Amino acid sequence: MCQSTSRSGAASRNGRSKVSEALDLVWRRADVQGHVISQAELAVWPSGDRETIIDLGLIRRTTDATALICEDCGEPHSAEIVRDARRPELPYYLCPRIGRVPVAEEATHQWEVDFDGLAALIRKALGLGGKASMLTPSRIWLLGRQQHAGGFWELFLVRGICWPDGVGLLDQCLRLQQSPAPVLLAPRRVPSAEILGKRSWAIRSLSEVASIDESKLAMDDQVLIAAGATVLLGASSSRSGSTAKRLPRSIGTPEAVAAAIKYMESKGLTETQFGNQFQSTDRTVRSFRKSGKMRRSTFEAMAKSMGLTIEELLRGELAKSDRR
Ligand SMILES: [Zn+2]
Repeated sequence: MCQSTSRSGAASRNGRSKVSEALDLVWRRADVQGHVISQAELAVWPSGDRETIIDLGLIRRTTDATALICEDCGEPHSAEIVRDARRPELPYYLCPRIGRVPVAEEATHQWEVDFDGLAALIRKALGLGGKASMLTPSRIWLLGRQQHAGGFWELFLVRGICWPDGVGLLDQCLRLQQSPAPVLLAPRRVPSAEILGKRSWAIRSLSEVASIDESKLAMDDQVLIAAGATVLLGASSSRSGSTAKRLPRSIGTPEAVAAAIKYMESKGLTETQFGNQFQSTDRTVRSFRKSGKMRRSTFEAMAKSMGLTIEELLRGELAKSDRR
């Protein structure tokens, strides 16, 4: 369903940057839900890049390990790390064959990819303007915008785009839906065209555009500018209506449709009555039920008439009195 991407021409286009094996390990791990990187794993990363990755803040310390694999007795087994309250700086574990084995404090360290740090680094590397913010906690970040002939495109960082809730979460992100030309960045894996359907985002992976160059995170801006130009072109042709089949800019989610149906049922409203409630028609309501999308201004009026904000309705929430 999801596909892995790897760097293509980024390294060759920019002669000074090189493919970093350690960086690729970071992107691989970043795609994994609830990932940790143990000190033992980190130790075998190519040094140089490892130090750079830590110094840059691409990974950060997380909670220390509470268990490890004993490899001292010839029969690898997991063992709990014991921290004596009187000597917490001297952890150890008990091996059934060789007894008490001291553990270096550093060996208990664990790391995780620091997405907040990553977001800031990408913004800086590309010199993006506009505002940056976290849109969905720990999942979606707006990194900024860049001007391009006739408009600007915006860059978003997405964590877990291939997780089961990934694309749904993006559908519910109003700021993303409002973006005139969104380009999405995921660590390594990106959803297939089949999963994305008609969504008009450009998606690129960090494994294809990011590299380490002289102890800095470098981004292949040509790939991103090209992606931005493509979505801008798509957006402007849909605005001008030159392609007859394109729908006007509209919003909606399957959750919102379900909430609207539930609302009508709980109030005993027909489609006509419900449509009239926000100065619209049964036809608009039917079309929304079918397509899941509605012109933005109409959607806003519908949400308001239900006592909801746009975001609440996109998430499929209902006012307390309408829940059952
Ligand atoms: Zn052992």
